[in-house]
Amino acid sequence: MDWDRVVSQQLAVLGGPKAVPNDIPDALFHWPIVTEEDEWAVVEVLRAGSMSGTDITRQLEAEYSAWQGTRYALGYCNGTASLLGAMYGVGLGRGDELIAPSRTYWASALQAFSLGATVVFADIDPVSLCIDPADIERRITPRTKAIMVVHYHAYPADMDPIMDIARRHHLKVIEDVSHAHGTLYKGRMVGAIGDVSAASLMSQKSLAAGEGGILCTDDQCIYERAIAFGHYERHGDSLTLPDLKALAGLPLGGVKHRMNQTVSAMARVQLRHYPERLQEIDSALKRFWGYLAETPGLRVHMPPLESGSTMGAWYMPIAHYAPEHLGGLPAQRFIEAVNAEGGRTGPALNFQLHLHPVFNQADIYHDGKPTRLAFTERDLRQGIGELPVTERVAELVAGVPYFRRDMPEIELFAAAFHKVASQADKLL
Ligand SMILES: *Cc1c(COP(=O)(O)O)cnc(C)c1O
Repeated sequence: MDWDRVVSQQLAVLGGPKAVPNDIPDALFHWPIVTEEDEWAVVEVLRAGSMSGTDITRQLEAEYSAWQGTRYALGYCNGTASLLGAMYGVGLGRGDELIAPSRTYWASALQAFSLGATVVFADIDPVSLCIDPADIERRITPRTKAIMVVHYHAYPADMDPIMDIARRHHLKVIEDVSHAHGTLYKGRMVGAIGDVSAASLMSQKSLAAGEGGILCTDDQCIYERAIAFGHYERHGDSLTLPDLKALAGLPLGGVKHRMNQTVSAMARVQLRHYPERLQEIDSALKRFWGYLAETPGLRVHMPPLESGSTMGAWYMPIAHYAPEHLGGLPAQRFIEAVNAEGGRTGPALNFQLHLHPVFNQADIYHDGKPTRLAFTERDLRQGIGELPVTERVAELVAGVPYFRRDMPEIELFAAAFHKVASQADKLL
């Protein structure tokens, strides 16, 4: 394409031609990639009538734990349930506090309420957008039991200082890997660094199999507690700890966490192809950013190459947006202009949990006070101003297209971003 010509034309939002034509191949964005191999795997389960069995799920678990590098993996009906299993697994219970980030999907935190525990939000780091180790320590109290780490938008959280804090204060670390399957932190795969991890396998996630989740750990006690809580059908052959064995037969949580085997069958196929698909997404996003090295106001959200950390499959990729380099143009206006070019900016961030009424007002279980305070004397509700980076960050990021294939059309999308950034003055 003629880059210089495209980026110097009038902005589409002001009536000029679009940088990205309409005839972009669907394959550039289509996800998940489903082939006959997935279809046959699912059909086999249907024909055998084994949707509610556990034999295929156990095969998935063996393969997943080998890939993840943990001793155990446990399949779940969804990622939310696997995070609840992880919370119960580490012993989170009545009156305990879970320290978590506020910019995340609710399932990184909200299930704590159903265990009688509560949530204390910590701020995020402005570069990684993951929980900031420097803000964790001052929020620790004698009630703190665990830290929830979310490798947000596939960027690895800074695990070394987080594990150090946890060890010093005898806390457990749960990793929510729902955005970051295959992401490396200093050369180590996330999901195998904390005490336990849980990941969604839902159909929009990087490793996509439908409604599904998976818990991974090296810790036998966490693994067996998770089984005791919601996998009663496995009590007989998986529980060895005497306290849990004595209760076998009924799920301690009164919940049923079994994975549908059409999903485990598809997840096995997806996992086999995942390394090459992750590689392709990585090259696609690096190609996109290669065009934008000189573009004002936009910086890649990616750890430095020499750190040994990576972006996995770049789940819902974003750019760091610096309005001060674009004459103060608000991120929202920039995004509208890029979309007018055909640029397909993805959704950027989750809303902030710490300001939602479910965390600050709702009395969900009739305790006569907000559920967040049900089992504590301390008013730990958090209002505006408590988490400055979390509260400001939406102005400082912009979604970028979530390419799933490395194709030449990526240059057109990069041109759309560059075109708007280099002509930002016309939008002021
Ligand atoms: C998707 C997601 C979950 C929940 O997974 P489901 O499979 O949808 O239940 C949890 N945490 C994060 C960060 C997620 O993005």
